[in-house]
Amino acid sequence: MGSFTDAVAVVTGGGSGIGQTTALEFADRGANVVVADVDVAGGEETVAEIEDAGGRARFVETDVTDPAATRAMVDVAVDAYGRLDYAFNNAGIGGEQTPVTDYDPEDWRAVIDVNLIGVFNCLQPEIEQMQAQDGGGAVVNNSSILGKVGFETSSGYVAAKHGLLGLTKTAALENGETGVRVNAVCPGFIETPLLEAGGITSDPEMRSQIESLHAMNRLGTPQEVADAVCWLCSDEASFVTGEALGVEGGYLSR
Ligand code: NAP
Repeated sequence: MGSFTDAVAVVTGGGSGIGQTTALEFADRGANVVVADVDVAGGEETVAEIEDAGGRARFVETDVTDPAATRAMVDVAVDAYGRLDYAFNNAGIGGEQTPVTDYDPEDWRAVIDVNLIGVFNCLQPEIEQMQAQDGGGAVVNNSSILGKVGFETSSGYVAAKHGLLGLTKTAALENGETGVRVNAVCPGFIETPLLEAGGITSDPEMRSQIESLHAMNRLGTPQEVADAVCWLCSDEASFVTGEALGVEGGYLSR
């Protein structure tokens, strides 16, 4: 795997779960990392872990639903480290779990706001910066297996994650010749605080049922997603753009 020495990466939702592990992986490979999150304690913890391991990082409190905040996030990267090479647009929420007919419209809108519009808000300043600098860059959006298939009771989440793949492909097409690659990862169920909040990892019966939906009959780890994100950002993926890369233990093979 290529080295990211002196490169600059931004990770949203970098204070927990998949984002935290990916921020640590970017730093481990030599990148300067900007950790963005609404969770200040989690984001600062990620930065402390990176610095303790000898890496360079800074935290910027960022709500991705606010376009001024995502623009400020990119400014922090450029002011601190001079450029932006990689962005992992990962911040997301699970939303309510209830059938379409019972879904509170405000809650539905809130999921779209964070999981879809939030990524759009990040993409605009990230791509602008990457287009403006020598060498381009690579963006990875965090979709889901639920960007490819439905899941009962999660219509807001499923709609946002499907929309995210359309956004990814369109941004990839628009940037085919600008030197900016735009891809997505589609993780299966990954063991993080998000699943804990949804009651999936704490209930043995539900956990086993969810595990069995994957051909490998287990949950994925944040590290397995982080490795895929870093591969998509690396020069080894230099001809890969507009891709929706499954990291899902065979969930979609059924
Ligand atoms: P997580 O542990 O809950 O981490 C998500 C982080 O994003 C949290 O720190 C959260 O802060 C933050 N966040 C929430 N809303 C935000 C906002 N408006 N602006 C900035 N940050 C915000 O979840 P995860 O499981 O690592 O999920 C990360 C991403 O992976 C999500 O997009 C999720 O949809 C996707 N994904 C997860 C799985 C899975 O099984 N875990 C599978 C496929 C895809 P708070 O905790 O304060 O809300």
